[in-house]
Amino acid sequence: MIHGKDFDVIIIGGSYAGLSAAMSLGRSLRHVLVIDSGLPCNAPTPHSHNFITHDGEVPLVIANKAKLQVLQYETVQFLSALATAVQKTDLGFVVGVSSGDVFHTRKIVFATGLKDIIPDIKGFAACWGKSVLHCPYCHGYEVKHEKTGIIANGDMGFEFARLISNWTSQLILFTNGKAGLSKEQFEKLNEHRVPVIETAIDSIEHAGGRIENIVLADGSRHSLSALYARPAFTQHCPLPEELGCELTEMGLLKIDIFQRTTIKSVYACGDNSSPARSVSMAVAAGTMAGASLNKELIEESF
Ligand SMILES: Cc1cc2nc3c(=O)[nH]c(=O)nc-3n(C[C@H](O)[C@H](O)[C@H](O)COP(=O)(O)OP(=O)(O)OC[C@H]3O[C@@H](n4cnc5c(N)ncnc54)[C@H](O)[C@@H]3O)c2cc1C
Repeated sequence: MIHGKDFDVIIIGGSYAGLSAAMSLGRSLRHVLVIDSGLPCNAPTPHSHNFITHDGEVPLVIANKAKLQVLQYETVQFLSALATAVQKTDLGFVVGVSSGDVFHTRKIVFATGLKDIIPDIKGFAACWGKSVLHCPYCHGYEVKHEKTGIIANGDMGFEFARLISNWTSQLILFTNGKAGLSKEQFEKLNEHRVPVIETAIDSIEHAGGRIENIVLADGSRHSLSALYARPAFTQHCPLPEELGCELTEMGLLKIDIFQRTTIKSVYACGDNSSPARSVSMAVAAGTMAGASLNKELIEESF
């Protein structure tokens, strides 16, 4: 049960970025409501890495610990719900949630994350976050020196292969169709013994999310321990755009160094506005959003 209807700040999205903003604001004595629909992007991964003090921890354990700590601050409340509408008013904003409740606030933080668009390849979704990986800094160490594939093409495929070659020399680049690589890129990959396979991908064979083989349209199989991919993504939440917040060319919310979006009194933090996707970066951005927003509130009254 939420006490009150009026807040200094409503934070939409209560995962790493949102909770981090809430901690800064709670410690600044601000009345804060965090609204979260409980669907963080890293839910499929069994272990989260590369966040100091929590290396290898279950993602939900980190989030739950953060929530417990944040809710120690008596001016912070947490509502498990989907925010469905945000409207500008003379005094600030009105936020509607899935239960039909409506809350008022002076400022908004969107910490709503991104949604990965899982490609239509049989087996991909089951392996996503377990053995089909997005980031070598998060998961590369665990599959170092192993037989590894990459699904990517063009410049992205070349750069991805160059990056992953740091962790393993047993690498294959699957372009899933005609390779869009330059002659120089082909030569460089050849020099570093990275085969390029253009045959279309049929499916991924796995055991409980652990990849075993990538199966190609011609029926051939390549045994792999890991596969990297960078699926397309979209904003998890349409509300910032509905409010008029501008996006970058990459589809991220446009922000300045203080996490301010292009709409006054609206901030964004975490994956929704950062090209570097990691728990530590989301936490840092949330801390910055909280502190910047508190400064704005101070300056409005002093
Ligand atoms: C498969 C996978 C594995 C990863 N592994 C690692 C790793 O090992 N180490 C690492 O550092 N990083 C890892 N990452 C990246 C990391 O998970 C993200 O950078 C991080 O979760 C971003 O935090 P966030 O708070 O910005 O967004 P998210 O954690 O995605 O949270 C966004 C929250 O907003 C909520 N939300 C969205 N819209 C609404 C709405 N309208 N109303 C209410 N709530 C809403 C969602 O339900 C969700 O809870 C991984 C990512 C993926 C996809």
